[in-house]
Amino acid sequence: MFSGKTEELIRLVRRSLYARRKVQVFKHALDTRSETGEVKSHNGLLYEAAAVSSSEELFERIHHTTDVIAIEEVQFFDERVVEVCRRLADGGYDVIAAGLDMDFRGQPFGPMPRLLAEADDVLKLHAICARCGRDASRSQRLIDGESAPASAPTILVAAEEKYEARCRHCHEVR
Ligand SMILES: [Zn+2]
Repeated sequence: MFSGKTEELIRLVRRSLYARRKVQVFKHALDTRSETGEVKSHNGLLYEAAAVSSSEELFERIHHTTDVIAIEEVQFFDERVVEVCRRLADGGYDVIAAGLDMDFRGQPFGPMPRLLAEADDVLKLHAICARCGRDASRSQRLIDGESAPASAPTILVAAEEKYEARCRHCHEVR
């Protein structure tokens, strides 16, 4: 969150397009930051992403002429996305997946641990802690300015909760 992972995904997509490779970009339908299929990063860059509601749907929508598959906010997918990414990579596609490695509790987020383990390359990006200015690895969920309880659901993308980047020392869970 605020670490520049969407910007990095866009940079890699652009490089692939310059190289005349065919790219498909996907996001999970749960990602409601935009309703038009466009993904907007924090610095305002835009590109089109197809919204899919499952990893199976993602797999079915891949064209045989595609070279590169980019997946935004991959942590929203269930565990089966790991198998889908593996099959695609084994099948010769380049797969670029961007996601949050930890949820608001500081616990591994959904399929991310296995994706991180199986990926050929991992780039871990850090935001800046909103409290102390150190490198931030955590997402602080805030409700009315207070830290959120650990019992809250993991995914609340459309809710009114706010998030800010925090380092491990400033990160709080009630
Ligand atoms: Zn801090």
